[in-house]
Amino acid sequence: MWKTDLKNNLKCSLLEEGKELAPLSALGAGGRGELFVEPTELRDISELFRIRSGENFPLYILGGGTNVVFADGDLEGVVLSTRRLKGWRWDIDGTNAVLEAETGCLLPRVVSYTSKEGFTGAEFAYGIPGTVGGAVAGNAGTGGESVGDLLEEVTTVEERGDVRKWGRGEFGYSYRHFSLFSSFPPVRFLASCKMKFRRGSPFEIERKIELFRRTRSSQPRDAKSAGCAFKNPPGDSAGRLLDVSGCKGLCVGGAVVSELHANFVLNGNNATGADIFRLMESCRDIVFQKTGVRLEPEVKLLGFETGL
Ligand SMILES: Cc1cc2nc3c(=O)[nH]c(=O)nc-3n(C[C@H](O)[C@H](O)[C@H](O)COP(=O)(O)OP(=O)(O)OC[C@H]3O[C@@H](n4cnc5c(N)ncnc54)[C@H](O)[C@@H]3O)c2cc1C
Repeated sequence: MWKTDLKNNLKCSLLEEGKELAPLSALGAGGRGELFVEPTELRDISELFRIRSGENFPLYILGGGTNVVFADGDLEGVVLSTRRLKGWRWDIDGTNAVLEAETGCLLPRVVSYTSKEGFTGAEFAYGIPGTVGGAVAGNAGTGGESVGDLLEEVTTVEERGDVRKWGRGEFGYSYRHFSLFSSFPPVRFLASCKMKFRRGSPFEIERKIELFRRTRSSQPRDAKSAGCAFKNPPGDSAGRLLDVSGCKGLCVGGAVVSELHANFVLNGNNATGADIFRLMESCRDIVFQKTGVRLEPEVKLLGFETGL
């Protein structure tokens, strides 16, 4: 019933049944989505949420797919892709600028555009792939700075399809956590956000970008990965714990722990979602046995029967 309702009511979306999900994730693994929905207009997202509030089908929101692992087999429900929602507006007012970006805008584009225009604030995000929506939902960041620091306002589609604006002070964020998007299954959708930047010295901006570019050289850039597999526990680094526990080079099927950076799980050779899940599970257990620290996944495991 919900599938027919979506097919009849989503007028500005591409709909596809049995969509292969592996090519849509940076890790390149996973099965097929029962119904893949790719809207070009926000009103279809409202409509989808309105229909879901009555019929409650499983929903997975997908940005750039750079922080997700899909399960193998058939994923029941809807995979909602944001990649065609890419509108953006740039307003300069004296030494301040505000970028209003739709969820599907690419974060690397925000970094290159703002720095080219001589505005500072986004340099820390150099090298973080994916969309603005994925970055806000997981409060992406590095070196103590995160996307939450830039936000002035976020616009969401709520559980019943209504659109709402949230000002600073109405949301909270911390390390890889954003208050409005912390529940799974998702109860709301990030439609767009306003990010604020200050005019800066081009020399200083380039210096900071160079600093972040150098940090990236300790990470595998050419292999298929979803970034850091585990979150850093308070006061420590997951990469360090995985390294001292001997996890570098471990593999399950086609999934392997990077020799360069122990917190990167790679799709080395046709890994399945199950290979990646089982490798992460082993790493978590080994670290716990050796150090007593229980690591929590940073990547979002979608469609698996159990969590990690
Ligand atoms: C090589 C590499 C390096 C990386 N380095 C970093 C790093 O330094 N720091 C860091 O934080 N991350 C890093 N990552 C991880 C990843 O790039 C970020 O988490 C990124 O912000 C995810 O964006 P995405 O669009 O790909 O989101 P996806 O992977 O598509 O989704 C991630 C989560 O966000 C949710 N989501 C996406 N859009 C919306 C929306 N509109 N509304 C509600 N929920 C939504 C999804 O449902 C999912 O739960 C790295 C990844 C790679 C591959």
